[in-house]
Amino acid sequence: MDLRLTGRVALVAGASSGLGYAAAEALAREGCRVAIVARTPSALRHAAERLVAATGAEILPLPADVSVPDEVTRVVAETAARFGQVDIVLANAGGPPPGRFLAHDHLAWVRAVETNLLSTVTMFRAALPEMIERRWGRLLVITSLSALEPLPGLILSSTVRAGVHGLVKALSDEAAAHGVTVNAIAPGMFGTDRLAEIWEARARNSGGSAAEELAKGLSAIPAGRLGDPAELGALVAFLASEQAGFITGRVVQIDGGQGRAL
Ligand code: NAP
Repeated sequence: MDLRLTGRVALVAGASSGLGYAAAEALAREGCRVAIVARTPSALRHAAERLVAATGAEILPLPADVSVPDEVTRVVAETAARFGQVDIVLANAGGPPPGRFLAHDHLAWVRAVETNLLSTVTMFRAALPEMIERRWGRLLVITSLSALEPLPGLILSSTVRAGVHGLVKALSDEAAAHGVTVNAIAPGMFGTDRLAEIWEARARNSGGSAAEELAKGLSAIPAGRLGDPAELGALVAFLASEQAGFITGRVVQIDGGQGRAL
């Protein structure tokens, strides 16, 4: 299917590795020009080189910390300055640290809100006005299955990302009439650095090994395997497509059947 994304401009955050990288690659393969954001300049530059080599697309690496509002505003402006517009935004960052309720102090809660909720608000606020003017836009955010069904040791993620789901639904009501869709993607378990961090934290808690925790995790997935980041990238590209213009205000799960809610 031609997703009719050729020439569109995408801004993808958290894109030097993992799910964000896979999303940037999928959008680039579909013909988008893509600005990618992460904090570490060397890793981001390397990611940009790999994306250019793999897709031949125009890739703009913009080092920034999305938990800092001025940096978010800057990258949206720099993307528009370089490519003329911003059609697609994928809000994403590292997940909040794993751990049980009493392990997190006040600062950890503030950081989680800044990194995983307010970063999304700021990216959407910066990009939406021009999308409304052009009457076309796709606002997307990566959240987590843990925001739909609490998972062990992910209380920061469950709490803060439930707020992101509220934002997505409420904002979609305001944006839909302007041709702008707003959706969240809630992944289950994918083979990325983030997941390794979670197995290690669970192993510290249980006194077992990370491999045992991985085996336990896999047993909760009917598909019997971890997700491939490219599968999430393909979902991002579809939700960004012309054909997905009637899908808005949704949290789309991609989890190999792990989610239990009907
Ligand atoms: P990852 O492999 O650790 O990648 C995180 C990316 O975000 C890196 O490029 C990182 O680069 C960047 N980043 C982190 N903090 C940032 C910040 N403040 N500003 C800008 N960029 C930032 O993680 P992942 O597995 O792709 O996960 C991405 C998101 O999906 C996370 O929020 C995670 O909680 C969520 N998620 C993942 C899974 C999974 O199975 N992997 C499941 C559910 C939800 P720098 O460190 O250089 O900034």
